[in-house]
Amino acid sequence: MSPTRREFLAASAAALGGALVRPSDARAWGFAPRPRDFTELRRNVGFFTGRGGTIGYLVNGSGVAVVDSQFPESAEECIAGLAERSGVRAVDVLLNTHHHGDHTAGNVAFRGVARSVVAHAQAAEHMRNPPAGQVPENQLFPDVTFNESWTGEVGDERIMSRHWGRAHTGGDAVITFERANVAHMGDLMFHIRHPVVDRAAGATLRGWMDVLETTVDAHDSETVYIFGHAAQGQPVTGGADALLGFRDYLGGLLAFVEARLAEGRTPDEVLAMREPLPGFEAYGAFGRASARDPLTVAVQEVREGA
Ligand SMILES: [Zn+2]
Repeated sequence: MSPTRREFLAASAAALGGALVRPSDARAWGFAPRPRDFTELRRNVGFFTGRGGTIGYLVNGSGVAVVDSQFPESAEECIAGLAERSGVRAVDVLLNTHHHGDHTAGNVAFRGVARSVVAHAQAAEHMRNPPAGQVPENQLFPDVTFNESWTGEVGDERIMSRHWGRAHTGGDAVITFERANVAHMGDLMFHIRHPVVDRAAGATLRGWMDVLETTVDAHDSETVYIFGHAAQGQPVTGGADALLGFRDYLGGLLAFVEARLAEGRTPDEVLAMREPLPGFEAYGAFGRASARDPLTVAVQEVREGA
């Protein structure tokens, strides 16, 4: 680290009112955080974009909460940046929105940092035994799980993690910072881009539409939602209109497949229709067919009448 960098860090620590980092926390300063990756939203809640699913955070005078962890390297950067903001290398609670690696592989960086890791019971089970993919060799698994909801407090902020049914996986949670009125959607929100639909882990397109509606009903018109992913150049936050727009895309996809099958196309012919979904051209053409491809899953769901 350059002397200039050290001076800057010392000055930042001093600016935190003497809340100096303990010598044992020096490791935190070995990683140069990228301030541009942190965006404040409202009332101490913000988001961090590095590599993988968007991380949400709360830093207030009483503690720190983090939603999702990306990959170990970017998680380290995030932890270092949060330590600069809070003055300590400690996190009261790490919440996972679901089990996928681009949201949980970085959990390991929170070992010895996070006092607790919270996830839906199904998500925790899938982190240990993923239906597809591998368990990271080194992982920090959730120590607190829930089926319907979990509530906790960090200072004067109340945090709720709620599961409203199968959608992107079988264990998705929406994490709401109630007083800030900010909700982290995890991968329940892919903004203007085709989603991953993990049917092997319990995903359902119709269930996903219901969960988006339930989410909007459980919040209000001022709620800011953090999206797990957005298309290049699109924002990773937005309002209820974005959630309902994505619900409409899912409905449009099912209706498109239903109509093509009803007019006598074979499933293989429908699967070959990779051009953009009519009415949702901004999402672009579909990627290649795979078990997690939305068009493939739509054909399966329609054929099953699920
Ligand atoms: Zn995911």
